[in-house]
Amino acid sequence: MNILVINCGSSSLKFQVINSETEEVKASGLCERIGMDESRLVYQPAGCEKEKITVDMPTHKEAIKQVIDALTNEKNGVLKSLSEIDAVGHRLVHGGEKFNKSVVITEEVIKTVEECNDLAPLHNPANIIGVRATQELMPNVPMVGVFDTAFHQTMPPKAYLYGTPYEYYEKHGVRRYGFHGTSHAFVSARAAELAGKDYKDCKTIVCHLGNGSSISAVLNGESVDTSMGLTPLEGLLMGTRSGDIDPGALEYIMKKENLSYAEMMTILNKKSGFLGISGVSSDCRDVDNAAAEGNERAKHAMDVFHYRVAKTVGGYVAAMNGVDVIAFTAGIGENSVSTRAEICKYFGYLGIKIDEEKNNTRGEEILISTPDSKVKVFIIPTNEELKIARETAALV
Ligand code: ADP
Repeated sequence: MNILVINCGSSSLKFQVINSETEEVKASGLCERIGMDESRLVYQPAGCEKEKITVDMPTHKEAIKQVIDALTNEKNGVLKSLSEIDAVGHRLVHGGEKFNKSVVITEEVIKTVEECNDLAPLHNPANIIGVRATQELMPNVPMVGVFDTAFHQTMPPKAYLYGTPYEYYEKHGVRRYGFHGTSHAFVSARAAELAGKDYKDCKTIVCHLGNGSSISAVLNGESVDTSMGLTPLEGLLMGTRSGDIDPGALEYIMKKENLSYAEMMTILNKKSGFLGISGVSSDCRDVDNAAAEGNERAKHAMDVFHYRVAKTVGGYVAAMNGVDVIAFTAGIGENSVSTRAEICKYFGYLGIKIDEEKNNTRGEEILISTPDSKVKVFIIPTNEELKIARETAALV
C-alpha cells in the first residue's frame, strides 16, 4: 500500500509517501508559508535532488493540491495517479484522554479531536484543517489519525496527576499528557528489539532530545511516565522553552518586569531554554560551540540541560525499579556526541560504560555502551513518519 503521511501545522505541511510493505520512502517534502506571500513547495522524490517550487498556496487545500500535483507529475512524480494513494495517515497532536490509540478518521472522530482543541490551541485546529482539506481532495481514501499523546495514555494516575485541586482534573482535564508519543513508541520498541529483549518484558528509557525534548519511561511496552505535561512546556530545558520552573517565580518575574500573563508565557515558550540562559542561540550546536570557546552562560545552558536529563533518567530508573535499555533520539540525541557523553557521565552508578569510539557517531543506529556495561545504551534515529505509515496500514 502507498501511504501518504501528513503532518499539518498552521502555516506548514510536511509529507511523505511510504510503501507500507517495503517501508520505502518514495517521496517526501514540505509546504512552507501557507497563507502567506512567497509560499513554496519543497519536493524530493527518493534518490533525486530536492526541488524547490515557489507557488501560491493561499490555503491548506491548495497546498495539498500542489503536493498531489508534484507526486503525480510526469517529470518526477512517483505515482501515476492519485488513485495509487491507498490511505492517508495524519499526525494529530492532542487526543486528550479520548484517544489511547490511532483511529480511522470519521466525522465523529473529528468532532472529538475538536473537543481537545483547548488543550493544544496552536496544533489541533491546524491538524484538522489538514484532514478536511485532504478529505475534500481525496473523498474516497481512508484516513487515520495518529496522536502524539496516545502512547502516554497508559501512564498511571500517580504519574499524571498534578497536585492541584482534583476538580480541575475532573472538570477540565488538567493532568499530564506527554508528547512525542509516536517517537517514544517507535524508539522504545526498536530499543528492546536491538537489545534482544521481549518488548513486553523490558524497562526502557527513551531520551528524545531535539528542539523540543522529552524523556519517557517505558515498562513492558507501556509508557509509565514522561517529562512533558499538560503542554509541551514542562520538563527538560529546551531550545527556547524553560521546562520545569517554580510557578511562584512567574508572579515574581511578572511583578518585577511588569509583564502580562501572555507576555510571561511567550517568554517561557520562546525566549527561555538554551536561548534564554546562553543568550547565544536556541540551537544546541551553537550553544555547545560557544561553551567550548569559553562562554560561561553557554556552558551553564549545556550543564543545566545535561543535569536535567540525568535527573529525569534517574527518576525513571527509580520509577521502574531498574532499566535495561536507554536510547537517545531526535536532533540532539542522534547527533551530539558531546551531549551524550556528558549525560552518560552521570550514569556510573548504574554500571553504564560508554565506548567513546562508538559514541562518535551521528544519526546512525548503534550500540554505544561497552559489552560489559550493565545497561545497553543505543542511538536510535526516530522515524515518526514510518510509525504513522505502519499504524495507518494496520488500521485500513
Ligand atoms: P525538532 O524538535 O524541531 O524536531 P530536531 O529533532 O530536529 O528538532 O532537533 C534540533 C536540534 O538538534 C537542534 O538543537 C540542533 O542543534 C540539534 N542538532 C542537529 N544536528 C546536530 C549535531 N550534528 N550536533 C549537535 N546538535 C545537533
